Amino acid sequence: MIESLLVANRGEIACRIFRTARRLGIRTIAVFSDADASARHVREADEAVWIGPAPPRESYLNVARIIEAARATNAQAIHPGYGFLSENAAFAQACVDAGLIFVGPPPAAIGAMGSKIVAKARMRAKGVPVLPGYEGADQDLAHLQAQARSVGMPLIIKPAAGGGGKGMRIVRDEAKLPEALAAARRLAESGFGDGSLLLERYLPAPRHVEVQIFADSHGNYVHLGDRDCSIQRRHQKLIEEAPAPALPDELRTRLRAAAIVVAREIGYISAGTVEFLFDGREFYFMEMNTRLQVEHTVTEQVTGLDLVEWQLKVASGERLPLEQAQINLNGHAIEARICAEDPERDFLPSAGDLRLLEWPAPEMARVDAGFGTGDRVPESYDSLLGKVICWAPTRSEAAARLAGALDRIHCAGVRTNERWLARILQSPGFLRVEHSIAFLESLGKQFADPADAAAERRAAVFAALAVRPNSGESDPWAAVDGFTPNLPAIVPLSLQLRGQHHAIGIETQQRERLSVAIDAESISVADVLRTDGSIAATLDGLRVKARVYVYEIHVHVWLDGNHYDFLHEDPRSKEFSASTTGGGLTTPLPGVVVAVKVAEGQAVAAGEVLMVIEAMKMEHAITAPHAGTVQTLHFAPGDRVSEGSALLELSAAAD
Ligand code: ADP
Repeated sequence: MIESLLVANRGEIACRIFRTARRLGIRTIAVFSDADASARHVREADEAVWIGPAPPRESYLNVARIIEAARATNAQAIHPGYGFLSENAAFAQACVDAGLIFVGPPPAAIGAMGSKIVAKARMRAKGVPVLPGYEGADQDLAHLQAQARSVGMPLIIKPAAGGGGKGMRIVRDEAKLPEALAAARRLAESGFGDGSLLLERYLPAPRHVEVQIFADSHGNYVHLGDRDCSIQRRHQKLIEEAPAPALPDELRTRLRAAAIVVAREIGYISAGTVEFLFDGREFYFMEMNTRLQVEHTVTEQVTGLDLVEWQLKVASGERLPLEQAQINLNGHAIEARICAEDPERDFLPSAGDLRLLEWPAPEMARVDAGFGTGDRVPESYDSLLGKVICWAPTRSEAAARLAGALDRIHCAGVRTNERWLARILQSPGFLRVEHSIAFLESLGKQFADPADAAAERRAAVFAALAVRPNSGESDPWAAVDGFTPNLPAIVPLSLQLRGQHHAIGIETQQRERLSVAIDAESISVADVLRTDGSIAATLDGLRVKARVYVYEIHVHVWLDGNHYDFLHEDPRSKEFSASTTGGGLTTPLPGVVVAVKVAEGQAVAAGEVLMVIEAMKMEHAITAPHAGTVQTLHFAPGDRVSEGSALLELSAAAD
């Protein structure tokens, strides 16, 4: 068995691999870039080696540096995780050449799936169902155009060397074909260094189903069941489950057998996933991922197996621990990917310091996390913070448990998507298995909708309770400055949420009874009880409890499945006085101002671009929410802005 293991990766997958290695008594070695010097995967490893600056090309994709790190630490084996170098045949070969064990398939098997064109043609020849399309060697654009016409519209163009859903293009209108092919060619060349394109009939609403397979170096092949990963946003999986629900038995059997055919055809060894599209009648081979996948966890939950342990055993030359007949599938497991992004702002990536990141307790869910409270989310890498996985005897129970577990996540400082994912898990479309990969295109926005005004007002009451000083006496208002408990007095407070201002007046009517005026409404509050990070209170006769967390001017409230990040606008603080006067536009994320498109005094129309902020390698336009006149600009190009900074003042348009 392997005795020391370097993981050429970061984040949750590095932590997850270390966990199994530790359990097996294997010495663990992390590698890290400048951006990850104090990251969790570095802290959890026995040893850690710096491999370069933050950009992936200079660190996590730097083959020479990683091999060097393995040599320096006397590592026996390298696990690539997923992403980065995991499907890079040259890296696998470099490991072998350096006398290291590559924990994954042989380089030739990775290479066999490196081109979607070659892979698809090969599987078609083996009788595996594939979608009609063109996977020929003649890549002349005029020839591709003629082939595309015969495939018919709608059609999907894929870069042969692509991955991660990148660079694919859907063409619905034949007139747009020449332009789409030319653009896809350019993207494929610049993004993957190979301009070859695959053409395929586009299915409007298929499900994504896949089979986990495993093979050893002794010629044994097994499958570990199937998964469904149809909940995707822009071709990125978000919710995955095992087994794939609602598949006819006969089809499931053929699907699993087809996956083994694919694996055998390329002489596969280790863990791999064969991906298919399912249109409700038939399945079609899409590709094989020659690595451990993000969603391998759901398979582990239904099989009770540790796939990383299997990978390490197989890499050591051992036989598969079980034969097909010994592998049992039990119950149902669902995984949700918790990402640092903001569903309310079109999934803008979010980075920065995690002031708070609480995961559900172990008895509620399996949590594979790469981050926790106090960690920093760098801007340089993908946005996955961790995964939450729930198992139950049935699918509906697993979905309910997972939604409940997601509700126990409390994250402040960085935006996350777990509330949005919980709403998807509770939606009738998902629960009835009526969803497809197109599900979120039409409904995604609905799940991201902020809570209604009444719920928001209730949350604002808790925010107000959270920021008022607690005297430690039973009456939370007893210590308020200049306030006499016997006299009715109204304490004013201003909170802001998504640019909306809430004016709050708190009036103590009698001991422990408050009336909170919020906007034009009044809510009665009684029996306020504060415990560790939570406040319980009776609001208009209803007992409710909220998790609260305050830092700087942020007042976080988690209530009824929603998360609110209020800004406490202290009239004495200069920082936010500008935005309290109305019309202040704040930046949704930390970044750098790259362009200011308007000047002070300029009249602008609603929707007009005012500023451009660059964050996480993407440009984000700040647009005018309404027509008006630019009053003050607070920043100039090149300035750094922190999240929530007021960027400029915009007056309402004159009638
Ligand atoms: P990548 O290697 O970039 O991940 P895939 O070929 O695996 O590319 O496709 C990724 C996703 O694109 C699939 O999960 C599915 O959502 C969508 N997709 C791919 N091919 C088709 C098709 N023929 N029709 C409809 N959707 C497709």
